[in-house]
Amino acid sequence: MIYLDNAATTRTAPEVVEAMLPYFTENYGNPGGIYSLGSAGRKAVNEARRILAGALGARQEEIYFTSGGTEADNWAVKAAAESRPGRGRHIVTTKIEHNAVLNACRYLEKQGFEVTYLDVDENGMVDPGRLKAALRPDTILISVMAANNEIGSIQPIGQIGAIARERDILFHTDAVQAFGQIPLDVEALKIDLLSASAHKLNGPKGVGMLYIRSGIELPAFVHGGAQERSRRAGTENVPGIVGFGAAVKRALGSMEERAERETQLRDHLIRRIESEIPCCRLNGHRSKRLPGNVSFSFSYVEGESVLIMLDMAGICASSGSACTSGSPDPSHVLLAIGLKHEEARGSLRLTLSGENTREELDTAVDSLKEIIQRLRDMSPLYQEAIRTRC
Ligand SMILES: *Cc1c(COP(=O)(O)O)cnc(C)c1O
Repeated sequence: MIYLDNAATTRTAPEVVEAMLPYFTENYGNPGGIYSLGSAGRKAVNEARRILAGALGARQEEIYFTSGGTEADNWAVKAAAESRPGRGRHIVTTKIEHNAVLNACRYLEKQGFEVTYLDVDENGMVDPGRLKAALRPDTILISVMAANNEIGSIQPIGQIGAIARERDILFHTDAVQAFGQIPLDVEALKIDLLSASAHKLNGPKGVGMLYIRSGIELPAFVHGGAQERSRRAGTENVPGIVGFGAAVKRALGSMEERAERETQLRDHLIRRIESEIPCCRLNGHRSKRLPGNVSFSFSYVEGESVLIMLDMAGICASSGSACTSGSPDPSHVLLAIGLKHEEARGSLRLTLSGENTREELDTAVDSLKEIIQRLRDMSPLYQEAIRTRC
């Protein structure tokens, strides 16, 4: 099997599982307990918090564990919206956010908030000038993702952070795809709120975090006990949090060399597809993109058919995002970069991990080439188009 769907989720690294195991079997005490069995868990949670804070240039007390990226996004957007009732009810975000942010914004619209969904250019980039122009005196929150999960484009979040700080508007970034892949420093980038998730960087599923810059009065989202300084109640997912810490430590230690290697593999994959498969288009920015992201649209094929045939050849990939596949609607991200419905439906996303080899990628392109040719041979539209060069 060749796994090329690492933006959807990753394999939990063996050393991460190893680190987690004792917190299921031996150190299972409630971290809130007075007994020493609880203090082992408490210490481990704090060690993970220290690792995560270090990875972001943050302080330990600014890291709050959640059940994943979706919860962190919901908390950031909904609680930030409620946090300044006197200031206003306007939010600025983009058309290419993850559904966790978009649907939280749509929920807020029903509660009387106004949301501006910024357009992006054909490469999936947000224009800071355009963002600035969308701000109003009653704008309370800007939410722009650090890197896109479908097309990999990396946004100028430092510039956006500076604009937000200057205008005293809260700035949230969904960094679920970027965290552990590209350097992120919350001070330098002037980020107030940042979401991340463990399972996108070889950690376990069901655990994430929200960074909340100290001094920001963000209301609690999950009410209950006093865990996470009374801001996120519920008995801590100790094994999950330990796994998150171990995964971040692992990702950080190898970030530079992994990025270099994945970028090379990515560009090799892009070059081969562009030179060997006609009528295709690369989605997302050519250089400002995540090291492991390859996204293409192929005319005259259905992405779903390509995926099924790739699966039969032992290759796991995705069309659009995992959350939207299964629905007949084309991806909102691909529509936002200007693709027509039929182009968006012929899209394919291949996302790499540090473990993929050049041989695997060559095998995948060989299969893909054959599959697309086979599907196009059955398409009269394609037969017509090759005479006019797509
Ligand atoms: C995966 C993902 C999420 C959701 O994270 P979960 O931990 O799966 O809930 C949010 N935003 C982006 C950009 C993602 O890629």
